[in-house]
Amino acid sequence: MDPLDIIGNLHKVKPVYQPVVSAIRHKIIGYEVLGRFRQGEENWCSLKNFFHDGDVPEEFKVDVDQHLLKLAISEMLDSKRTGFLFINRTANELLFNNGEDLLETLLYYKEKGFSLNRVVLEVTEHDFEERFEELNHLLLYYKTYGIQIAIDHIGVKSSNIDRIRQLEPHILKIDTKMIRDHNREGFQDVMFSLSMLAQRIGAALLFENIEDDFQLHFAWKHGGRFYQGFYLAKPEFQMRSNDYLTLNTRDKINSYIQREKNLIEQRLSFVLFWEQKVKELLPKWDGAKKVDPFIELVTEKFDQESFRMFVCNGDGLQISSNFRKRDEIWEPEPHKKGSNWAFRPYFLENVMQMKTWNKGRLSDIYSDIETKDMIRTFSYPLTGQYFLFIDIPYTFIYENECLLI
Ligand code: CA
Repeated sequence: MDPLDIIGNLHKVKPVYQPVVSAIRHKIIGYEVLGRFRQGEENWCSLKNFFHDGDVPEEFKVDVDQHLLKLAISEMLDSKRTGFLFINRTANELLFNNGEDLLETLLYYKEKGFSLNRVVLEVTEHDFEERFEELNHLLLYYKTYGIQIAIDHIGVKSSNIDRIRQLEPHILKIDTKMIRDHNREGFQDVMFSLSMLAQRIGAALLFENIEDDFQLHFAWKHGGRFYQGFYLAKPEFQMRSNDYLTLNTRDKINSYIQREKNLIEQRLSFVLFWEQKVKELLPKWDGAKKVDPFIELVTEKFDQESFRMFVCNGDGLQISSNFRKRDEIWEPEPHKKGSNWAFRPYFLENVMQMKTWNKGRLSDIYSDIETKDMIRTFSYPLTGQYFLFIDIPYTFIYENECLLI
């Protein structure tokens, strides 16, 4: 496509609208505006390449984007549609002419009744690389008008986290394609830091490019407040209403809720079952001096679920040997006695919780210091002073889906 052809034929440029669906109300809460150019009679093609082409002058891009924006807002006003309008701008486009073009247009439509807080401005994370300070100032200025900021294609580079924090965007847009491209564990870690970041700065997570049930479930499970993608609705020349959605999001989400509750219930049954098994042994607890023979009894009961166990006091000091299963045989490792584990994250919190509620606890999944495998630990207060730790290997976790969450 020749950029001159596009710029000279703006009447052939039209917006398409891709619905954004909310997890809270299961409804369309807005539309992302994308550009199409008519080639020939009825052949509409995407303007993605035009906008991503570094050789196309910013001025051209601004003109085309302004044209699309005007059509989109007019459409919303004419059809009396409520909700947000998500628009895309590169940093260079925004900084061209000090970002005045966009603001002027928006202020013009404000007079006509289109409030500026209905605009969500999408800026790609990639764009922070250069001219960050200028961009940051401009976005702060836009925010004072109520314009919302979304960071597009987030998570590609973790090095930008500081900058994202500084921008305090309203929305972080995650491309669901990343799930397909990353290995499972790597992506879980990226997702974890992104949802932490979102919580800290009070931003909502929007998952885009959702193409199937697995991805929608993933988005829901990882705290996605908004969804976008072919699985829910394709971009169209009309702003479609809720009835048009290809998918009944309410039913879908409800099925995820039931599934998740089921898994949590199964996991809690494990905890109750393990707790019961330890409780049955408690009459045999004969004080700290005879801790190793006591653990021997525990190993028999947890032969299937565990590969290692030990007892600590409330200060994190290990008062027993390690009991370690090797080739199906439990062996005591007396040299581990005297280790202190209180430095580990959540250790003291965990101990105090056990002591206060007199209940067993199951840790999250974490990487074991010794084996580097992903494991979980079930812990139980034997008395107010001594605490039993039973490590569950990944093989057992993996066989039981409820322990994976
Ligand atoms: Ca976008």
